Amino acid sequence: MTAPLLRIEAVEAAYQSSIVALHGVSLDVRPGEIHALLGANGTGKSTTLKAVSNLLPAERGQVTAGRIVFDGHDTGRTSPADLLRLGLVQVLEGRHCFRSLTVEENLLTGALGRDARRSEIAGDLARVYAIFPKLKDRCGTLAGLSSGGEQQMTAIGRALMSRPRLLVLDEPSMGLAPLVVRDIFEQLRRLNREEGLSILVAEQNSTVALQYADRATVLDAGVAVLGGDAQTLRQRADIQAFYFGEGVASSALVDEVAVASPHEGA
Ligand code: ATP
Repeated sequence: MTAPLLRIEAVEAAYQSSIVALHGVSLDVRPGEIHALLGANGTGKSTTLKAVSNLLPAERGQVTAGRIVFDGHDTGRTSPADLLRLGLVQVLEGRHCFRSLTVEENLLTGALGRDARRSEIAGDLARVYAIFPKLKDRCGTLAGLSSGGEQQMTAIGRALMSRPRLLVLDEPSMGLAPLVVRDIFEQLRRLNREEGLSILVAEQNSTVALQYADRATVLDAGVAVLGGDAQTLRQRADIQAFYFGEGVASSALVDEVAVASPHEGA
C-alpha cells in the first residue's frame, strides 16, 4: 500500500492552553484521494485543518500531542510558508479574497513566491479559467464585487496557482446556492480524477461531500467517531440522523463501521 500523503496521528489541540478542541484525532489522506472531514458546527474541523497547515499558533492555539506528517515532513516543525512551497495549500473558511483586487489579480497572488517563468504562470492562469470559466468572464471585476460563488472559485483558483499536491479546503459550500456548490465540487472532482490532485475537504454539508469524496472521517466534539469509505457512509441513514441530532449514539456508529482507525489500510 502506498504511503499516505498526509498522516494525522492522535492529534490533540488546544487554544490558549486551556480550550481543548481536538482529542486524539487520526486520519490519513492517500495520494490521489478526496477525503472529507465531516461534522457539525464547532466539532473541530477547522482546528484540524489549521493544525495541518501549522496555522494554530497564529490563533494562540497549538498541537499538544500527536503529530502530523505531510510527505515526510512534520508539519509542526515546518513553517506555513514552507508547507505551501512543499505543495500543501489551504483555502481557509470564508473564501478569503483580496476584495480590492480584481479576480485575475487575486489569482496571480497565488503564484507569488513561486520561482516560475511568466509563460508558466500564464499557462496556469489559462488552466484555472478552463476549470472555472466564470472567472474568465469576471477577470477584471473587483473580487469584492463578485458573487459568493465567484469568490469561492477565486479562492480555489488562487490555491491552484500555487500548484498544490494536497489541496485543503475549509467548508467550500458555506453560504452558497446548491447549484453553485455542485459546480464547485464537480470541478474539484475533475481536478482529482484528471490530475490526481489529493484533496482534504472539511464540510458540514455531508450529503454533497460524501457524494464526491472517496473516504470520509466524522468529527464529534473533537473526536473522530467514524471513518471509512464514502460510499458506505453515504448509504447510512443513521449518519444523517447523527448530524441532525436525533440522538443516535456515536458509540453505536463506531461499533458498526470500521473506521477512524488511525492508519486504516496504510
Ligand atoms: P465551524 O464549522 O463552526 O468552523 P468547526 O468544526 O470547524 O466548526 P472549530 O472551529 O475547529 O470547529 O472549533 C472547535 C472548537 O474550538 C470550538 O469549541 C470552538 O469554539 C473552539 N475554537 C475555535 N477557534 C478558536 C479560537 N481561535 N480560540 C478559542 N477557541 C476556539
